[in-house]
Amino acid sequence: MFISKISSGFSVNNYRNNVSFQRRGMLSPLKADTFSFSGKVQEKSNEPQLKEKTIYIFLGPPASGKGTQAEKLAKKLNIAHISTGDLLREEVKNETKLGLEAREYMNSGRLVPTELFERILVDRISQKDCQKGYILDGFPRTEEQARMIDELNSEENAKIKVIQLVVDEDKLIERMTARAKYQNREDDTVDKLRTRIVVYNGVKDTLVNYYGDKVVPIDANLDISAVQSQINESIEEDLA
Ligand code: AMP
Repeated sequence: MFISKISSGFSVNNYRNNVSFQRRGMLSPLKADTFSFSGKVQEKSNEPQLKEKTIYIFLGPPASGKGTQAEKLAKKLNIAHISTGDLLREEVKNETKLGLEAREYMNSGRLVPTELFERILVDRISQKDCQKGYILDGFPRTEEQARMIDELNSEENAKIKVIQLVVDEDKLIERMTARAKYQNREDDTVDKLRTRIVVYNGVKDTLVNYYGDKVVPIDANLDISAVQSQINESIEEDLA
């Protein structure tokens, strides 16, 4: 697959250029093409600061509260929250070529092939608001995607922490039934959500094994603020 074509030691921008050259059937120039950002990053002294660049990966089944909790952590740390589901929904909404292709997969609860959206994800990660760290919500969802993150991070070697939201299945169904009523997501009917749980269960152990001691399990059966407190406690050690 795409990742095997990429040599190690690539930065996000080398990765991006290389993928683009491969797409066009050309050899990558493999040059160090670093991105420079102008302007100063605003540091507010009363905000919690990360000791080092950290990539937080939120892992959990649909309706586990990943989006809600990722959003809260992003606000607390003033870092970017990147949801691949949201990126894809935006493409669907704008009826782009990618959106039209992705929609088929999303509506049936299946995973969208990584090759279709890796470019928009890599572009997003190389933006300025990801310099201090970022949160990935809904990515990776396969071991291949996990390896992609490692490739992207191989030069910078940012710290990776996986926040795993663990929720009982009957609780998920209960939440999904409620969510299906007030959200207007085409993929959020209870049936389709069941498919998405099956897809998640199929890869969860692989990802947990892949990340090993980087994984912090969180009891996400509890209410939003109790889950948030556990997450805040788990990231305390990352703060300066
Ligand atoms: P989410 O909002 O994270 O539950 O994602 C909604 C849908 O978008 C999923 O059911 C997939 O069809 C697609 N999707 C989101 N993230 C990924 C990913 N990392 N890999 C493949 N498909 C994804």
